[in-house]
Amino acid sequence: MKNYFIYYDNKYVRQTDATLPVLSASTQFGLNVFEGIRVYKEDFYYIFRLEDHLKRLNNSLNLIGFNTKVISKQEFLNIIRELIILNNIKSDFSLRFTYLINEIDSWSSHKLPTFFIAPLIRKRNSADNYKTAILSKTRRISKLAMNPRIKCGANYINGRYALLDARNNGADLPILKNQDGFISESSGACVFLVKNGVVITPSLDCDILESITRDTVIKIFLENNYKVEERFISEAEFNECDEIFVCGSAAEITPIKLTNKTDFCIGELTKFIFDEYQLAITAKSYNNHLWTTKIELSK
Ligand code: PMP
Repeated sequence: MKNYFIYYDNKYVRQTDATLPVLSASTQFGLNVFEGIRVYKEDFYYIFRLEDHLKRLNNSLNLIGFNTKVISKQEFLNIIRELIILNNIKSDFSLRFTYLINEIDSWSSHKLPTFFIAPLIRKRNSADNYKTAILSKTRRISKLAMNPRIKCGANYINGRYALLDARNNGADLPILKNQDGFISESSGACVFLVKNGVVITPSLDCDILESITRDTVIKIFLENNYKVEERFISEAEFNECDEIFVCGSAAEITPIKLTNKTDFCIGELTKFIFDEYQLAITAKSYNNHLWTTKIELSK
């Protein structure tokens, strides 16, 4: 999509016309909160877990001290319909939904934030698209310093350090430990291990983002009678597991090969959750959860 339309500051504008002052609080200090939301094109467009994304964004707005509430689901859907039509989108896409301060101010700004919603063409993952990962020397930000549960731009600089370090060491992704040395998460995704048929993931008090995909994955495994443990994971346990995958709205389910392992073939439970997740995001299964919001353009 070349110079496509986005919704910014209450208007539909071309992406290149959506500007903000270089000295705005958001440009200078990374002061923004956002969500990355997936839309899957089948017979209709399906937004995955929209209510949960709106809820988390509202929570982030509140925690970061922005004096506004997230727009309603109905307002959001009206904007998305219009963006699909204006941009003639006919494939899977993702949405960046960001609240920011577009006025010149300091990091302590109490100016009223505005928001943009921008579509980005992004196809769903394929199971053979595995990534390599390495344990990072960079630790995950502590909840005592910068709350990792707030999805704010500045928190991603922690992920940036770890990601650059991973790439310099020949891996696609970093896996970060927290301040206490327990496994936390990847730079933009949560992490799951499998050991002896048990699914294990760091608990919410391991300085992770309260990931919507993580919640989906846990629910799918439990409903299919797998054992799931949310708890602290040591480095030794991490290195000895049978399977690893990361998950997130963008990463979906991404199988992981550790750089210290020589061979790789996708693990049984990773393949299972990959397939089930595909069914969930396209409303072919797990519909009792009301995870998908269908968009019909004619209405
Ligand atoms: N952890 C971090 C640091 C992330 O940036 C993301 C992506 N939002 C995730 C986990 C996964 O969260 P979600 O499943 O809600 O997209």
